[in-house]
This record gives sequence, structure tokens and C-alpha cells, in this order.
Amino acid sequence: MMNAQELKQAVAKRRTFAIISHPDAGKTTITEQLLLYGGVIREAGTVKAKKSGHFAKSDWMAIEKQRGISVTSSVMQFDYAGKRINILDTPGHEDFSEDTYRTLMAVDAAVMVIDSAKGIEAQTKKLFKVVKQRGIPIFTFMNKLDRDGREPLDLIAELEDLLGIEGYAMNWPIGMGKGLVGLYDRVGQQLELYRENEAGQKHLPLVSGKLAASEPLSHDPQYLAALDDIDLLNDAGNQYNLKKIMAGDQTPVFFGSALTNFGVETFLKHFVDMAPAPGPHQLANRDEELMPTAPEFAGFVFKIQANMNPNHRDRIAFVRIGSGEFDRGMDVTLERTGKTMRLNNSTEFMADSREQVTTAVAGDIVGLYDTGNFQIGDTIYAGKDPVRFEPLPQFTPELFMRVTAKNVMKQKSFHKGMQQLVQEGAVQLYRTYATGDYILGAVGQLQFEVFKFRMQNEYNSEVVMTPIGNRTARWIEPDQLDEKMSSSRNLLVKDVHGDPLFLFENQYAERWFADKYPNVRLTAKL
Ligand code: GDP
Repeated sequence: MMNAQELKQAVAKRRTFAIISHPDAGKTTITEQLLLYGGVIREAGTVKAKKSGHFAKSDWMAIEKQRGISVTSSVMQFDYAGKRINILDTPGHEDFSEDTYRTLMAVDAAVMVIDSAKGIEAQTKKLFKVVKQRGIPIFTFMNKLDRDGREPLDLIAELEDLLGIEGYAMNWPIGMGKGLVGLYDRVGQQLELYRENEAGQKHLPLVSGKLAASEPLSHDPQYLAALDDIDLLNDAGNQYNLKKIMAGDQTPVFFGSALTNFGVETFLKHFVDMAPAPGPHQLANRDEELMPTAPEFAGFVFKIQANMNPNHRDRIAFVRIGSGEFDRGMDVTLERTGKTMRLNNSTEFMADSREQVTTAVAGDIVGLYDTGNFQIGDTIYAGKDPVRFEPLPQFTPELFMRVTAKNVMKQKSFHKGMQQLVQEGAVQLYRTYATGDYILGAVGQLQFEVFKFRMQNEYNSEVVMTPIGNRTARWIEPDQLDEKMSSSRNLLVKDVHGDPLFLFENQYAERWFADKYPNVRLTAKL
């Protein structure tokens, strides 16, 4: 075990973050570049190939096979510049689910990748909202500079207009697309060239913010245009404010091109310097916060990944460590039940490609094989003093299904499976007021598919699901409720806590309702 000083040093080295983006903005590509810098992979294209299913052979594949479960990119750990980096994957596309949101509860910072030709897109906006609520730093990478994109000033303004966060440009593009010359590094006071110049230089120094007059590039119109922008930013732009950055009220913006690996290392260097090490956690059962350097181990489950392979019924519970040091074989208490359990050798570190036993401390993620002990949001702790982390937030589902048991004779297994899967956090459950029908809610389609599959495989219950489509869920104060307010366009249901909410067919239905009942307060979860 580490002594107090070693633990403190280990925690200070950790940088745990997630990358949020809209599909196709370049998250996979930049992740891969980061892994290259971390020496985790040797060749670009590895992660990419994995994603598209053309993955041939790698260390990860074997782990995956052996575990019979896809853990490949859930947590990626590597060392860079003396820091230990944990990247937590936030699945998008068809894998988008509540787990994607919950993963954001387990990170200390977020990186937002934006396609500079498209600006802020829908999924980025959703994920941003969740990150923003946590008050953690958000770093922005404006990607695809090698293509013609939108005006950089526009992109910065959009951060403020659409997301309500100040942008501070750490560097500034000189040209774009085919005309990309390089990046003006405001902080490092140098020009980073896209292509080496004739003298073989990649970096040109700036003196008082300008290139030497003898430098041929100093007459380039693109460079001069960038200087104008920089002047504008200096005079009228946001002032760099580290306190705001740490609170998620200002985002440092880096421009670059993940595909051509331009500006990525500059970004990474600044990121590891600026991003915070794991901090203290608010607890639900104590007044004082839990310090990451507290000697006793404690952590919380933020995601449970079910195995889709029927031969392996186990699941993996992902635990974010909040304090102390994790040890294989250690005894912990599951706070919810008060039961002690041994985390024996079936415990694995996620995505540790070298598969060595390394120490895990606050900020790190461990994956625990689970046969049904854990629920989302559970705390486990070692030592005598109980620890309970704050509950994970509830999210507002957007997709809904009516669900029934196919075989009415099998109601018992249907109810059991339903109850357990809902408790585990796989889907959200609602009942209609009028008839008590079961309605499932999710943020991503995958959640329904996993639910159906697991009901069949784990509970031997075949379910029938009827989509009721996209709905806007809004909670209502119980004392304002009148059941006559319900109609097919604004279906009244209650959640698992018995709290009433409406599922509005669309925004018109919601507006119509708000007009009709102006005094009724409608609220969303996160
Ligand atoms: P993800 O869905 O966010 O993970 O996006 P990917 O990393 O898979 O990238 C989506 C597409 O954009 C792929 O075809 C990439 O090759 C491409 N792409 C990613 N980064 C860049 C970039 O910097 N420049 C250009 N031109 N294309 C890029």
C-alpha cells in the first residue's frame, strides 16, 4: 500500500475526462491521436478500424474475447508528460444511452470536439448541458481546420449564443482548408506551422505578438488577417480567467485538425497542465467532503454494462474511485445493503492494455465483475466509516415504449425482470394514471434493445414493445395536478417515485398546455 505522501502524489497525477461531441465531429480520430501520444497504440487507424468492425488483431481484442464483453474503448488509460490520463468513452450514434450521461458524472473535465464547418450540433448541446450542470472545466477543440469551415470568430460567438459559455481562444487559425498556414499560439507566443517552411522550421517565435519583419510570412495576407482577429480578441474578446475555466463558465478553445494531427499535441500539453486532478466529493451522509487523498478506499458505480453474449451472463460495474487506494482482493461494504464483499481476482482494470497490476487511486476507474449485486449509483467503501456518494441525477428521457409481457401466464418473471432492470438503471419506468400501463423511457434506442434482450435471456420473459415515439417529458407539482389535464397528446404518467409528469407529443402540445394552464409549472430533469 502507498503511504500518505505517495497517495497524494498519485492523485495529483490523475487527469480523468470524457470527450463529448456530435457524431462525426472527430471524437474517434482525436482519441486515437491522444492514444498515439500516450504510446498506447502504435499506428493511427487502430481505434477507427475497431469502430468500423475491421479490427484485425490487438492486445485489446484478446481481453475482449476473454471477457466476452465489449470493453475496448470504455476507459482508456495512458501516461503523458508525467500525468496519468483516463479517457472515458461517451458512446454516441446508436449506442447513445443514459450511461453516456452517467459517464459524465465520473469525470473531472470534459473535452468538447466541434466540427468547425458545422459548429455546435444537437448531441453536443445535450451532453454539454449535463457537463455544465456539474461545474467542471470544459475544453473545446475546433476540429477539421484542414477543411474550409466557418469563420473562427463566428464559432467562438456561437459558444456563447448557443451554450452560454464564454470562449477564450488559446490559439487562432491562419487560413483554413487548402489555405491553412498554421496556428497563432496566443499563450505560447509562437506560430505553429501546418507545413514546415523551407528552413525546416515548424515553429516561428513571436515578439510582442508579431513575427519578425524579416520573416517572409509576415507579409502573408492570411497572417495579417489573423493578426486583425487577434487584435479584436485582445480588445473586445473575453479575458482569460482561470477561475471561470475551472467552474465551466469559460472554455479554452483550441483549433486544429485531428485527422492531420495538427494542433493536437499543443492541445494535449495545455490540457494536462490546466485540467484539474481529482477533487473532493460531496457526500450524502456527511457534512464534510470526501478528500481524494483520504486513506480509505471509496467509489461509486456509474455504469453497468450488461453482457450481450448469452454464454456470459455476467456484467461489469464501472466504479469511479473517489478516495484511497484500490486493491484486488480487498474487502468493501456495499453501502446500500450494508453487506461486505471481497473484490477478488475477478476484478480487472479497464483497458489497461499491458494488463499489469497497477495501483488505482482517486480518478481511476475499475471494472468489477458483477452477478447482480450492484446498482447504478451504489457506493462501495473500505474501512469502518460509512460513505455514501450523492445520488446520480435523473435524466429526462426522450423516447418511449409501451411494454407488456407476451405471455400473460408469465407475469411473475415479467415483473421481476422489469423491477430489477429498472432498479439497475437500464431504463426508466412509468405507469399511466388511467390504466397503470407500463411505459419505458430512454434517452437512446439501445436501452430498449438491451432491455428486451435481457428480459428474454435473464428472466425468460418475452416482451412486446409498442413505440409511442419521441415525447417531451415534463414533471408537474402534485398539488397542481388534475387528471382531466391528460389526453393522448399529453399523456399523464407517474415515475418510479410516484411523481406525476406529462409526456407531450411535441412542442406544440406543450405550448398548447402551457397556454391553457398558465399557472402550472412544468419542469424537466437534466
Ligand atoms: P466521431 O463520430 O466523432 O468519432 O468522428 P470520427 O473521428 O469517426 O470522424 C468522422 C469523419 O471525419 C471521419 O471520416 C474522419 O476521418 C473525419 N475527420 C475527423 N477529423 C478530421 C479532420 O481534422 N479533418 C478532416 N478533413 N476530416 C476529419
